[in-house]
Amino acid sequence: MSEQTTQDPLAALRAAARAKAEQREAAKAAHHAERARQAGPEGHGREKRALDELREIARRGAEELHGAGTPGHDGDDDRPEATAEQVVAWAAREFGTSVAVACSMADAVLPHVVAQQIPWVDVLFLDTGYHFAETVGTRDAVEQQMDVTIVDVKPELTVAEQDAAHGKDLFGRDPVLCCQMRKVEPLHRTLAGYEVWVTGVRRDEAPTRTTTPLVTFDEKNGLVKINPLAAWSFDDLLAYAARHQVILNPLLNDGYPSIGCLPCTRRVAPGEDPRAGRWAGLDKTECGLHV
Ligand code: SF4
Repeated sequence: MSEQTTQDPLAALRAAARAKAEQREAAKAAHHAERARQAGPEGHGREKRALDELREIARRGAEELHGAGTPGHDGDDDRPEATAEQVVAWAAREFGTSVAVACSMADAVLPHVVAQQIPWVDVLFLDTGYHFAETVGTRDAVEQQMDVTIVDVKPELTVAEQDAAHGKDLFGRDPVLCCQMRKVEPLHRTLAGYEVWVTGVRRDEAPTRTTTPLVTFDEKNGLVKINPLAAWSFDDLLAYAARHQVILNPLLNDGYPSIGCLPCTRRVAPGEDPRAGRWAGLDKTECGLHV
């Protein structure tokens, strides 16, 4: 044992933590330097391929990855559909670094699954200005602890500017417009620079999500869309998080199985539909990102 650790056992721990942080920063810098070298006009990797080419890649991906259990799969064999890891491996092969992971920061499972095969992948966080403090804290923890690159996706207007232009608390009067301006449009604008986006949508989350495929072409946003966790249950998600010590938003264990913006999310009772707390009392069930 060194003289320093004998005198101050915490000093060795601090030095190790510092060395680890420096290594992490060096790896991140090397990754971004390589990406900058390869960057196309949008700066996210090679130049984005034409939509028809991406459509064809999505079609081939569905052929390769879908199987028994995939809604709408009409293959004549009983091959099971691909696992989350196989879907991500396919994306890494097909798209290199032109990959964006959408993350609501309810948990960091999806970024963790993807970063195992695409380190420093871009993780898009829709910074609506209306998040719970716990969600912002989760975002910060992910940025500090995981090998991913957080990209804050911001609306054109700040909350104050939106209040001035459309009246205060638009979410209470026109949540569709509010989601359009604070989530749908900023995401659409950001996705223009990528060839594929990865979502954490699961079939068990809501009736609107039961037919979610593993891979599809997103006509609205003009890129391939993959849903590697589509077949997972909420318990699968929690088991993965426990197994890999993945960061979870503390609200998940505080009655919020589905976490959105603070004004539009309430606690749900045990046994209640997990998404019942989103836009409770309104017809709205989706923010518009996945429809
Ligand atoms: S979830 Fe609510 S506050 Fe957030 S963007 Fe949509 S309507 Fe606005």
